[in-house]
Amino acid sequence: MSCVSGIWSVHCIKGFSLSDSDERELERRHRQILRLRLPDEPVDQRFQSERDCVFRLSDVRWPDGPVCGKCGDGRPSWVESRRLFQCRRCRYQYSVTAGTNLHRTRIDLRLWFHTAEVAIRSWSSPISVRAVAIDLGVPVATAHRMRKIVLKDISRDGRGLLSEAVCLPIGHLPDGIVAGSPEHLERLKLQRARHIEDMEENFH
Ligand SMILES: [Zn+2]
Repeated sequence: MSCVSGIWSVHCIKGFSLSDSDERELERRHRQILRLRLPDEPVDQRFQSERDCVFRLSDVRWPDGPVCGKCGDGRPSWVESRRLFQCRRCRYQYSVTAGTNLHRTRIDLRLWFHTAEVAIRSWSSPISVRAVAIDLGVPVATAHRMRKIVLKDISRDGRGLLSEAVCLPIGHLPDGIVAGSPEHLERLKLQRARHIEDMEENFH
């Protein structure tokens, strides 16, 4: 364990390559962290509409607010009828998924969120294409493409847009705590427990 903790930081050095077993260990830790960051509350209860999903993705993609892909201007207006942002400076309209791994998707974002959640929960035995198709009520070809995109997104090398959208924020790691270390995992468990307590308080 301590060996890999050291490797985690060494991994950041450009050009340094890890052995297959170290790669597997880091991937395993990445999965463990994602699972701990996933609240018990189902994702379709947290994000009940396509609009909820758009704004969640927007917060993940642009923590300081949406940015126009053409002129770089911030603070766009929201065009409800088209579910698009519109730049106040150059009038360019853009979606939250433009230029991401969900570029031009026509599939309801709630289905993407749901698939990401299921994939994170069942990562030790990955969901089959057929199970995705049945679960979402989509054709097998669509399920195949979605599964591929989601599994890549939530992997350690993925872009993480969906996994960040469905998970709790990772929060700030104090100095001396290594990502994936037992101390870090313990903090994540406490964070999740606090989130559930907050939810219960808000409910009552
Ligand atoms: Zn613009």
